[in-house]
Amino acid sequence: MIHLFNVSKVYPNGTVAVFDINLRINKGEFVFLVGPSGAGKSTLTRLIFREQLPTSGQIYFRERNVLRLRQRELLALRRQIGMVFQDFRLLPRKTVFENVAFALEVLGRSRRVIREQVPLALAQVGLTGKEDAFPAELSGGEQQRVGVARAIVKKPLLILADEPTGNLDPDTSWELMELFERVNRDGTTVVIATHAWDIVNRMRKRVVALENGRLVRDEEQGSYSHGA
Ligand code: ADP
Ligand code: ADP
Repeated sequence: MIHLFNVSKVYPNGTVAVFDINLRINKGEFVFLVGPSGAGKSTLTRLIFREQLPTSGQIYFRERNVLRLRQRELLALRRQIGMVFQDFRLLPRKTVFENVAFALEVLGRSRRVIREQVPLALAQVGLTGKEDAFPAELSGGEQQRVGVARAIVKKPLLILADEPTGNLDPDTSWELMELFERVNRDGTTVVIATHAWDIVNRMRKRVVALENGRLVRDEEQGSYSHGA
């Protein structure tokens, strides 16, 4: 599904954020992207979403070279990827329902589809009954579940999450990771950049480790740090 060949990203200020990454992620996988702050995890997720262009190397999403997409194809790529962010990025003046609906509105979905799909997504994340709440009325965990509902409502092939539990307490973090696991079990590929070493160590998923922009480890059923 995702294929990176010798991908490097140098920011305009000269920082080498990722260097010579080769990585293949298949459909249906659940992957943790780990590494210390500044290792290049965010940059890698942004490169896959094509929010950033690599300085060199090639990136393929479903056999398409993402560096050569026309505008329409770029929108199609982003429709197939659901992003989840550390700071939730909800619209504060919209209700829970409206926040999730918005993801479909920008794709031009009909009101009928929206009325049908939004409640299903909210039920999947356990937020039935919270439709009319505003983000500020929700706990952090609930806000992030709105973030996940917004990502899954468009039925993406891939969920890309950048430090999704970074603002959540340990119990809430666990619940969120279990939610990602369920989404993955239903067939969606999941890639999560995270610092939550205890969760990574207990879940025994594929672990891709970055250090100073380099891919230093790639293990099936891996752990957060070597030998843990
Ligand atoms: P991580 O997500 O693992 O913390 P990042 O991808 O955010 O790592 O950062 C990798 C490196 O690139 C760091 O040295 C960071 O300071 C730098 N960096 C990230 N974004 C930018 C940017 N927009 N401009 C310049 N340097 C950046
Ligand atoms: P947590 O213990 O996870 O931090 P909170 O104590 O923030 O959760 O919230 C517990 C419940 O109270 C949640 O269901 C949340 O939606 C509700 N809630 C929190 N703050 C408000 C508020 N200002 N108005 C209405 N409901 C709220």
